[in-house]
Amino acid sequence: MNKLARTASWTPHQADWIAAYQAYQANGGSPFAIDPHDFGPGVADLQYALYDSRSRSGELGRMRRKAGLKSCPVCGSPVTGDLDHYLARNTYPEFSIMRANLVPACRHCNSGAKGTTVHGGDPRRFIHPYFDPWAAQAIWFVEIVPPYKAATFKPRPVPGLPAPQGEIVEFHLENVLGTQFHLSMATYWSSLPGQLKIRDPELTIVSVTQQIDQELRVALHSGGTNCWQAALLRGIRDDVAAIDHLRQEAIAAVLPPMP
Ligand SMILES: [Zn+2]
Repeated sequence: MNKLARTASWTPHQADWIAAYQAYQANGGSPFAIDPHDFGPGVADLQYALYDSRSRSGELGRMRRKAGLKSCPVCGSPVTGDLDHYLARNTYPEFSIMRANLVPACRHCNSGAKGTTVHGGDPRRFIHPYFDPWAAQAIWFVEIVPPYKAATFKPRPVPGLPAPQGEIVEFHLENVLGTQFHLSMATYWSSLPGQLKIRDPELTIVSVTQQIDQELRVALHSGGTNCWQAALLRGIRDDVAAIDHLRQEAIAAVLPPMP
């Protein structure tokens, strides 16, 4: 910010801009506490464009390429490599290159689902990966909606989250998960009986439950606490009817011959 303010055209905006950054930090990016600031005619477009010229190089480029993320910090998909504006750049161009407002994310999160949505009415807003430390615990699961042979998948907050966290998670899930999530759930769900058949010679309710627990441990290790697979496996683990369905499908499954 201070480096930028040395450019003559930005110098007059430095004080207001720093005040906006401070308000962001003080309020954890909350869209209910931070109003977009009007910097004067034409300035918003220039602020908006700052990101386009900087997103692939320097500090922002390094954020984008951040290694070691197990899944998208916004939606939990297995894909990373993009940056998302927590407060949308259209509404809040003054935060277009503020690091605290830029969250590593997948392509889908950055390009589509959220769009220009900033919030859904207090307290419904997106989870902020930097300012909501409570969101590091398991915050959601996937409910398997019968009929199990043609199951559909409903993302839900885990029970027992204190207010307003439950509502925040619900709004977040409604707005970040799209078609790819539902396709991915259906694919994984239909592959589970075959996996169970390979790994579990008993195929009882108890042994299948143990296998699901084992799969969940693997998902937590490889994708992180709130990745898509972990959320689905949490939902299966607490649904005896779903486990029984998987067990029966596994018994009936015909495995491909070894090549
Ligand atoms: Zn994502």
